Amino acid sequence: MPTLFISDLHLAAERAQISALFIRFLETQARQADAVYILGDLFEVWFGDDMIPPDYQPAIAAMKALTDSGVPLYLMHGNRDFFMGEHLMQLCGATLLDDPTVIDLDGVPTLLMHGDTLCTDDLEYMKFRAMVRNPQWQQDVLSKSPEERLALAKKFRDLSKAETSNKAEDIMDVNQAEVERMFAAYPVQRLIHGHTHRPAIHDLNIKDQNVQRIVLGDWCAQGSVLICEDGQCRLETFTM
Ligand code: MN
Repeated sequence: MPTLFISDLHLAAERAQISALFIRFLETQARQADAVYILGDLFEVWFGDDMIPPDYQPAIAAMKALTDSGVPLYLMHGNRDFFMGEHLMQLCGATLLDDPTVIDLDGVPTLLMHGDTLCTDDLEYMKFRAMVRNPQWQQDVLSKSPEERLALAKKFRDLSKAETSNKAEDIMDVNQAEVERMFAAYPVQRLIHGHTHRPAIHDLNIKDQNVQRIVLGDWCAQGSVLICEDGQCRLETFTM
């Protein structure tokens, strides 16, 4: 049976059709999988497991139904939903993975990442990331009231939109030297990540080794899934 990888769904109240598509994916294709991995930015906003927006409940229930049916579900933090915690994992029956994580995928050691840490040319973002991934900063934010956290989330979103519109395209893609550094640091032949919204399977030769960097597609306009089976991986898109 295949192993499925998705990322960058950016589920949000104003994008109900994507939530519906995700729920259908969980109720159909995902049920036939060995395992399902969601490599970050499942949610457009997540500011604590104690303030789950009601719009997210159907998707959470559908993830729980999937894991109750016996399919393992693995989640990874993205740059938008890094406040997902153990309580949410329990609600979904999911396991939270570190970024990066190495798995054995049909005998091929495979590195999983969200992908934002590969975009090292974006110095402003890397600085921002260092701040928001600091445990002390996170503890301070989680101790604020839901209203204060929502205001902060909105501020970050506006900031990110304003910055992104000013940035050159290549700054927001992965840095090749950083990709090579990851392949040197981990004994893997394959890297799977999302974040850049540039779905592709790149065959690379790094230090005389044939390796693959697979980029997952976003769910901004459609569903996108990486299907890996018997050592082969393919990207597919789907709509309602
Ligand atoms: Mn992302």
